[in-house]
Amino acid sequence: MLKPTLFKKFLFPSLLIALGPLLAVSVLLYTGLEQVRDHLAQEVARTADRQVSETLQNRARQVAESITHFLRERENDLRFLSRFSHDRQMLLGFYAVSRREIWQIRNGREERRQIPLYRSIALIGPDGRERLVVRDGEPVPATALRDVSRPEQTEFKTETYFRDIRRLKPGEIYVSRVTGFHVTTPEQQAGRQFEGVIRFGMPLFRADGRFDGALILSLDHRHLMEFSQHIDPGPGYSFVEPSYESANYAFLFDDEGWIITHPKYWDLRGLDANGRLVPPYSARSSREDIETGRIPFNLDHAGFIHPNYPRVAEAVRQHRVGSVETTNVGRSRKIMAYAPIIYDTGTYRRHGIFGGVTIGLQMDQYYEQSSSGSRLINRQLRQFRYRSAWIMTLTALLAALAAWRLARGIIKPIQKLNQEAHRLAAGDAASPIAVSGSDELAQLTETFNHMARELEERRLNLLSTLEQLQQSRRDILDERNFKESILESISSAILTFDTGGRLTSTNSTAHSFLGRTWPLGSHYATVFSAWEGVPARVARALSEGSGYGREPLKLRRDSGIRHFDLGIFPIGPEGSQGLTVTLRDETIREKLREETIRLDRLASLGRLAAGISHEIRNPLTGVTLLLDDLHDRAALAREDREMLGRAMAEIERVERLVASLLSFASPPQAEFRMGRLDETVQEVALLLKRSCRRQQIELITDCRRLEPFPFDPDKIRQAVLNLLKNALEAMPDGGRLTLSLQEEEQQAVLRVADTGSGIAEADLPLLFEPFFTRKGASTGLGLSITRRIIEEHGGSIVAENRSAGGACFTVRLPMTPGRQQ
Ligand code: ADP
Repeated sequence: MLKPTLFKKFLFPSLLIALGPLLAVSVLLYTGLEQVRDHLAQEVARTADRQVSETLQNRARQVAESITHFLRERENDLRFLSRFSHDRQMLLGFYAVSRREIWQIRNGREERRQIPLYRSIALIGPDGRERLVVRDGEPVPATALRDVSRPEQTEFKTETYFRDIRRLKPGEIYVSRVTGFHVTTPEQQAGRQFEGVIRFGMPLFRADGRFDGALILSLDHRHLMEFSQHIDPGPGYSFVEPSYESANYAFLFDDEGWIITHPKYWDLRGLDANGRLVPPYSARSSREDIETGRIPFNLDHAGFIHPNYPRVAEAVRQHRVGSVETTNVGRSRKIMAYAPIIYDTGTYRRHGIFGGVTIGLQMDQYYEQSSSGSRLINRQLRQFRYRSAWIMTLTALLAALAAWRLARGIIKPIQKLNQEAHRLAAGDAASPIAVSGSDELAQLTETFNHMARELEERRLNLLSTLEQLQQSRRDILDERNFKESILESISSAILTFDTGGRLTSTNSTAHSFLGRTWPLGSHYATVFSAWEGVPARVARALSEGSGYGREPLKLRRDSGIRHFDLGIFPIGPEGSQGLTVTLRDETIREKLREETIRLDRLASLGRLAAGISHEIRNPLTGVTLLLDDLHDRAALAREDREMLGRAMAEIERVERLVASLLSFASPPQAEFRMGRLDETVQEVALLLKRSCRRQQIELITDCRRLEPFPFDPDKIRQAVLNLLKNALEAMPDGGRLTLSLQEEEQQAVLRVADTGSGIAEADLPLLFEPFFTRKGASTGLGLSITRRIIEEHGGSIVAENRSAGGACFTVRLPMTPGRQQ
């Protein structure tokens, strides 16, 4: 689909304005011209038709008048000659001089020649016998003269002219109708001519008034033919003989409607051999008559060919001039002008006419003038249209070009403006548009250029500001990330609260301390609900603005006592923006501190024990020797001996105690060797097998095979033995002792579980302290020595009560080589 660009929007209306009226004028001109042409053509045709018709009618009238005149001349001839009717020489001379030219084709050649006007001049006696007949320039021999009072002896067998003339008064003239033998078609085509006459006759009277015969001038029919034969109604004006194939010819008919002159002789009124009129061609004519051409033409009987024929005959009888359309025997259409031949002599008095002249013109030729007029008009109009079309096309092209240039002249700068505006909108710098002229468009362009420059400057400013902003943002982000990473990486929990006590920020350490992630906005009382004493302190700081600072916090947790360092600090002057709560886990440090104290205590205890042991051991050895000596004396009473024995046993006990003390105070250096712990443990278990059986204790050992790793087998044997002995002692009435060894996370894990009395809760923290014992005569050093051995191996030992009863000691020894070296 066409995109309705501004150019098109401007161009199309411009074209419409420019070309629309042009087109409308063209159409109006065209249709107007068509109408004018039709009108003109009709008018020209009508005029031409009328002219042609009138011309034809005029010619017919002229011909008719000529014939009337010609007939009158023949009457005059008759009257003139009647005065000299007895003068033989006069008749001969008159015959000789009465000539008239005829124009015909003879022997294939056209010729004009003078021929006698009359075929014969006859002087007839009162008895009806011919007295003198001049024919062909010669008097007819007396032997050939006839009695014309008898029609059968007349030339055409039935003529009654003598009888008719005889009835005339002096001065009256007889005129016969055209009389001649009928010529058929084949006869004419064979060259036979119609040889007819019109007899002009006058009665002759003697001086006494008696009838003295008659004078007859037989007008040669050919002279009558001359009047119609050469009329060419077409452009040729005249011809020697018309073609009877054509419809362009003239013919004469008499007052009875018979055709009397015609190119076709078989159409002429004619007599048969007996002198009877051949009947006219009619719808009832026999085929034979038609084929042999025995068809003279009578207009009154030719209605079957065209109804206008009888009408013409009738019109002529009424002395009317006119023209009609008709069709001739050859079926060609023609227009036929007619005029009456006014003549009233003799028998012609009845209608006052000799007959009529018709001039026929073939229809196409008849219309030739009008159509040539139309052609002329058409040609002129075509030329006019052709030129107009050229002018219109040229004008349209010029108008279109002007519209196009106008549209382009206006739209192009706008398009350029639009293009540059698009570039501006897309963020590109618009290139300045060349300004030409000083019209509104030029001003608009100038303004646009100015605006584009301004925009470009502002854009550059914006860009630099944006760059600065981005840099600042990056700096801020870096700083924030830096702080956040510090906050996140810090091992203390840091929480901030607004003045309303709502959580505003936390770090990840805080999440792990608090055991969950509190959403921002949570209240401090909720956040620290499990932190005994903290909410009260925060509340005090928030409400009173006091109590800021650090202080230790000791909390009991499932995993044991936990030590924290709690700090509360104001945000903003006097806590106007809330406060910060920091928590630092001090448990490990606290434990270390306790361990250091313990170790210090142990060290001093060891030194004390070593000193005491040393000091005690020497006198004790002396006492033992003395008592041995005393015991060996026989003089002693049995009771004394028993007392001595008990004393010696006590001293032995003290020696054992001292030995233990020494072993505790200055233990031998551990010697690590690669060995399999499971084997060492099995050995110890084997040692105690008998004791177990004796104490009715079920010993269950589950020692998995472990990979060898470095340990001191003697010391480990001592440690395990201590644990097993304690277990046996805890089950004086029997029970079950379970010993298990397995590897867990690269550690050898040894568990010694019994079903004894278990350990009092209060004793659990003290179990591994030296000299702690719940057994009266015991040293209380076993577990402390055991722990030291385990720690020498980098391991750990934990004591706990079993839920099913009894105690369980778990020893973990690292199996990683080199840890102890
Ligand atoms: P002694 O055995 O000499 O008392 P120890 O250090 O071996 O010294 O043990 C300390 C104390 O721990 C014992 O007196 C006993 O009360 C307690 N104890 C040790 N092992 C067990 C045990 N398996 N069941 C109950 N109490 C035990």
